[in-house]
Amino acid sequence: MKTDDDCLFCKIVAGDIPATVVRESARTVAFRDISPQAPTHVLVIPKEHYRDAPELASADPAALAEVVSEGAAVAEAEGLGAFRLVFNTGAEAGQSVFHTHAHVLGGRTMQWPPG
Ligand code: 5GP
Repeated sequence: MKTDDDCLFCKIVAGDIPATVVRESARTVAFRDISPQAPTHVLVIPKEHYRDAPELASADPAALAEVVSEGAAVAEAEGLGAFRLVFNTGAEAGQSVFHTHAHVLGGRTMQWPPG
């Protein structure tokens, strides 16, 4: 499995950094964001290290599909009628951790366009 010793989310997958895990599948882990931006704010990540969603889409499309379906399963488990699934891609778009992750956000009214 592709991992990066310097990656925060690889360390969460390995159990070296604690996280509140809410769901796990063969290829993904879902855990609560440390700085929630909505009543529900969960991150769904592939266990394998890829820097962003497009890179994961090219390398392992089934894993990206699993990230999306696990995000929907988190939303259902949290009782969200609607939710936002966000892949910040690149620093200018707000990506700060360069290990693919989907933000699952819900539990409040969302604005559009996002800031
Ligand atoms: P990005 O800005 O890359 O789209 O999202 C990274 C997310 O990771 C941010 O929402 C940030 O709050 C979250 N985050 C950063 N460090 C940690 C951590 O150590 N644990 C958890 N659970 N979330 C983190």
